[in-house]
Amino acid sequence: FWLKFYEEVRKLEQTLVIIKPDGVRRKLVGKIIQRFEERGLIIKKMQQKTLEQPLIREHYAHLKDKPFFDELVDYMTSGPAIVIILEQKNVIQIVRKMIGATNASEAEPGTIRGDFAIGTPENVVHASDSLESAEIEIRRFFSI
Ligand code: GDP
Ligand code: MG
Repeated sequence: FWLKFYEEVRKLEQTLVIIKPDGVRRKLVGKIIQRFEERGLIIKKMQQKTLEQPLIREHYAHLKDKPFFDELVDYMTSGPAIVIILEQKNVIQIVRKMIGATNASEAEPGTIRGDFAIGTPENVVHASDSLESAEIEIRRFFSI
């Protein structure tokens, strides 16, 4: 029994989700969290905070040469955001599917961005895109 239990627990993954400032301003927090809960994803940590510029510049460092980088940083630091650690089997891939395509005009109806977002950069949510980035982002946003 204990070996089986251990093996099940070991398969659990964690991902970092951010409800971005437009999601908080538009009072979509409850609706978004409800989707994750209904899907069976476990909220391990959740905190509201206004994200600092250096943190966001680091988080989006891979986009620093894009023409929209400054706009993206201003947007992400424009007000309170909700940072969340979700846990479940295959949670990284599941949440990426639930949030939908980056560009809201390409996001399928039924996804969070497809139902709530209009364009970029204001696309309501962030979620880690791989096991490696999830580990880095959880440490970055929760300093653990
Ligand atoms: P994600 O992983 O789906 O969030 O997409 P990316 O990692 O490629 O981009 C990070 C964030 O930058 C997106 O979620 C948007 O908020 C923003 N972004 C991406 N592409 C564009 C763009 O073409 N124009 C603008 N203004 N913002 C963008
Ligand atoms: Mg990304």
